Amino acid sequence: MPSSVQPPRPSSAMPRPAMPRIPERLYGIVGHPLGHTLSPLLHNWGFALHDLPAVYMAWPLPPGCLPAFMDALRTLPVAGASVTIPHKEQALCLCDRVTERARAVGAVNTLYWEDGAVCGENTDVTGFLAPLRARGLCPAEALVLGAGGAARAVVAGLVELGVRRVRIANRSPEKATSLAASFGCEAVPWEERARAMGGLVVNTTPCGMQGPRCGDSPLPSGAFTGRGLAYDLVYNPLTTRFLAEARNAGWETQDGLSMFVEQGREQFRIWTGLDLPADGARRLVEQALGL
Ligand code: NAP
Repeated sequence: MPSSVQPPRPSSAMPRPAMPRIPERLYGIVGHPLGHTLSPLLHNWGFALHDLPAVYMAWPLPPGCLPAFMDALRTLPVAGASVTIPHKEQALCLCDRVTERARAVGAVNTLYWEDGAVCGENTDVTGFLAPLRARGLCPAEALVLGAGGAARAVVAGLVELGVRRVRIANRSPEKATSLAASFGCEAVPWEERARAMGGLVVNTTPCGMQGPRCGDSPLPSGAFTGRGLAYDLVYNPLTTRFLAEARNAGWETQDGLSMFVEQGREQFRIWTGLDLPADGARRLVEQALGL
């Protein structure tokens, strides 16, 4: 700096900038692509509600970078994190300990500390099961449409719930066979899915979600006969064609927003020991989605 230019000297006349509140605990979500993830909204709302000195951030993390993130988590230290696509499976191998549930699913979506160890849990299972438990529902038979990452949590949840016969149908049959084999369930050919519906049918495919697949259904028209519950993991829009057709045929319906909110409430409980009000959390997310 040239000697003629001096930095301004603090004087009592200068306004003091408002000091930001510096959080003591750092949380975040890692995934790629992260897009407009709603998790920061939900958890920061919870921290504010409970007046906790914590912040939750979105950390886009490209494929292959999870080991480096785990080092950062252990070094900084980060108090906890959500893990999403494509890192959930690898996270299972990078934790010091994982819960039985995470091991059953084969994926971790929540990192937390316990006795100096980095632990991994899968709260998608709790999130998926919450609406079924609230309804007191445990059907004898269920059909799962799709065999991707979300389907693994759904099948693990149905087995945990005690559903005796879980069938899986997927567009690519080998994935249905492989998922069914991991959980001792049955795979059914995609073409025969409408004839394999029990008292519960769960859509874990992206059919019906906002975008080019909006208006699609994973089932052919007229598939809903008898009575049962149609459960869609898609939550934007809240009423998909799958759910609308189920409702028109006299079936009960469950949208995917509760699962999203409940998996987040479970993460918040793990990290803080505190509850997020379910109705308020759902309204918050609905508002953010413009629903
Ligand atoms: P994923 O791992 O990519 O799996 C997608 C599955 O859907 C695959 O089995 C795929 O079949 C099938 N599929 C894709 N397009 C299809 C089509 N046009 N017709 C029939 N089947 C099709 O995805 P994911 O992570 O499991 O997520 C799936 C959906 O669940 C997404 O809509 C996601 O937003 C939703 N989700 C919701 C929550 C929640 O909290 N509510 C949580 C997780 C996921 P192939 O094997 O043949 O490709």
